[in-house]
Amino acid sequence: MNEDNSHWADLTDLLPDPPVKDERTQTCPSCKDVLPKVPGAKTKCPHCGEFIYVRTDPDSSSRRLVNETEAMRLEKLWTIRRPLIQSLPVNESDIQQIRLQHPEASRVDAVKLALCSLAQVYSERHMWGLFRNTYFELAEVERRTRSYDSALWYYFDVNYLDQNGADNATEFISNGAVQWIPADPEWNNNLAFRAPAVIEITLDLLNFLDLEISSAIRQYEERGEALRGSLELPLKWSNASPKVFARDES
Ligand SMILES: [Zn+2]
Repeated sequence: MNEDNSHWADLTDLLPDPPVKDERTQTCPSCKDVLPKVPGAKTKCPHCGEFIYVRTDPDSSSRRLVNETEAMRLEKLWTIRRPLIQSLPVNESDIQQIRLQHPEASRVDAVKLALCSLAQVYSERHMWGLFRNTYFELAEVERRTRSYDSALWYYFDVNYLDQNGADNATEFISNGAVQWIPADPEWNNNLAFRAPAVIEITLDLLNFLDLEISSAIRQYEERGEALRGSLELPLKWSNASPKVFARDES
């Protein structure tokens, strides 16, 4: 895999959305009565008086007539579908190579496999910063491909890693080999950081999936501890989580 930025592929080109299907009908979504014509924009039903909206469902790529409740749900869905990154360190030739080795892998699987193998390399070298970025990319791929649950836990990983601070890990190269120095047990708070955009999308996903923060924090505990074990993170999830989700003082 090439880490040269010019070799990176656009996320939306790599994982394109299906074309929009026009599935508007001449039926009111509220009272199901027949409308005088197929609406092209927001209108009021002459039978029940409810508003009719024309919206595209980002999950099914279907353009259809919806009532107000559904329009609000779709708006929420569009919010959680807005990508935070433009490109991925994976391109067409990486995908083709992986699919030659794993003929059963879908295009999405191949992209994830490519990122997971990168993460593996960074994990072995305890390169938290690059590992964190790769998990962020995995989160974005999961979200792009509508695996919102899976995306949520990758964003939790990213928030947790941010709280540990990439520079709380150190390494040096000696005789061509990467040497890993275990993190200082005196974890340095000044190196921790919070990425507002990542926290925001985590909260949006929690809201969309109808999960309480406190319950998600508990659900993440086991996964967080496994991540801590493999990367030798200095900060326990139970100490990190209140800081990640602390309200901004302003
Ligand atoms: Zn109606």
